[in-house]
Amino acid sequence: MLSLHVLIYNEAMVESKYNYYIQNGNDTICLNGISKAVFSVNKSSFDFIKVLLSDVELQQQEEAITKELVRMRFLVEDNEQETNYLLENKRKDANSSLFHLILNPTQDCIFRCWYCYETHKKGEMSKTTLESLKKLIIKVLDREDIDKLMLGWFGGEPLMYFDEIVYPLSVFAKEEAEKRNKGFFCNMTSNGFLLTEEVAKKCTLIGLNTIQVTLDGDEKRHNKTRNMKGQPSFRKIIDNCVGYCLDTSNNRVLLRINYTDDTIRLDFAEILDIIPVGVRAQIEIQFKRVWQTYEKKTDKTPDGLLDNVENLKKKGFHLSCGMDFGFVEGCLCYADRNNYVNLNFDGKVYKCTAVDYNEKNALGYLSENGDIVWEDSIQHDLSLKPYVEDTKCMECNLLPICGGPCFRRKYESVAQNKDFCIKELLDTDVDMFVKQYYNDTLRKIERRRTLANI
Ligand code: SF4
Ligand code: SF4
Repeated sequence: MLSLHVLIYNEAMVESKYNYYIQNGNDTICLNGISKAVFSVNKSSFDFIKVLLSDVELQQQEEAITKELVRMRFLVEDNEQETNYLLENKRKDANSSLFHLILNPTQDCIFRCWYCYETHKKGEMSKTTLESLKKLIIKVLDREDIDKLMLGWFGGEPLMYFDEIVYPLSVFAKEEAEKRNKGFFCNMTSNGFLLTEEVAKKCTLIGLNTIQVTLDGDEKRHNKTRNMKGQPSFRKIIDNCVGYCLDTSNNRVLLRINYTDDTIRLDFAEILDIIPVGVRAQIEIQFKRVWQTYEKKTDKTPDGLLDNVENLKKKGFHLSCGMDFGFVEGCLCYADRNNYVNLNFDGKVYKCTAVDYNEKNALGYLSENGDIVWEDSIQHDLSLKPYVEDTKCMECNLLPICGGPCFRRKYESVAQNKDFCIKELLDTDVDMFVKQYYNDTLRKIERRRTLANI
């Protein structure tokens, strides 16, 4: 078993296969994808390091530099061991002691966004399904291998049934978890329109302190896509998110901005300037391309994406993913975990929350006595080992920052014999990721220095 905290140094170290070297002006940024260690050197130092990484004699002569490169995992004992380390992390995460239950109380919504894959069927979770769900929650909490339960409210629009389903069911789950001394967490994906002050206060009572909300551009474009029978929503959503953040400093909003090649050119730092500075640290912004537009891309990286990322950071917002790559330390998505279920309002179960909720895509159902019955054999087989095992990802040096396929891509690769790798389709590449990570690291060091001098 490989531990990152132990300095391993013997006489035959080899270059890590997860080192990235990116030209940045006259210098080269060097990053290791497992340790996340990053530094920048000039050309002659880089040439020297490159020779040292493959020259055992030079490693022995330059002991201090070699030890530092071992500490940063640029030099490793063997390459198979570092890939196994990533596999082991995936295995552990896939079977972690957290049970994650994503619940769709309805498929209905107050908006009708053009790109939405959901069916907007009228109706909500029935009393019978709710009773079975309570039995499932009890069974999960009674499991010895589970010490935390997370409810994720999804839909449709979950706030349409906040008082009838979301609130009472969350209270039930929270109390049952507390009785057993187990952890309880709660979050929600919502359009934010119905997130009133009263709802925000009740969210605090059930520990629902993270909400993901989506914007579709500036006020005009957003309102064109997201409106309630013509009634605009942009201002109301922003006001509701600000109110939610002001309710308690524990609350977080993940503000997802859906973009196309056209909308990403807008200046989001200016658009979001209406958000008070005091709550910006509670708002994390995530840019996400509207998936139907991937096929229509003309440039690798659309104009405006990188500027928006930088400008929003300067305005005090957190940005979770300006980039498609990132350090993936376990599973890529909640759907990759085995202790995870997405339950639709009609009692059918799914894994990926980005598919059509229909008979064809359902993977099983919730039985009357609260058991999840998985009926899909592909899903069952996928749960037995990490998705990257026995695939080309094992040889790919991007594995630590790509993570391999998510559940859906893996499933489709097996069911439809499709290639799961979407590297070429992404809006950003490894160069951009490494440069941004290096600049962010410098900024953090600078901030720490400033604070130390106060
Ligand atoms: S498409 Fe992949 S990443 Fe997205 S929710 Fe589905 S499984 Fe997760
Ligand atoms: S999905 Fe593609 S880019 Fe990612 S690790 Fe696998 S082969 Fe590499």
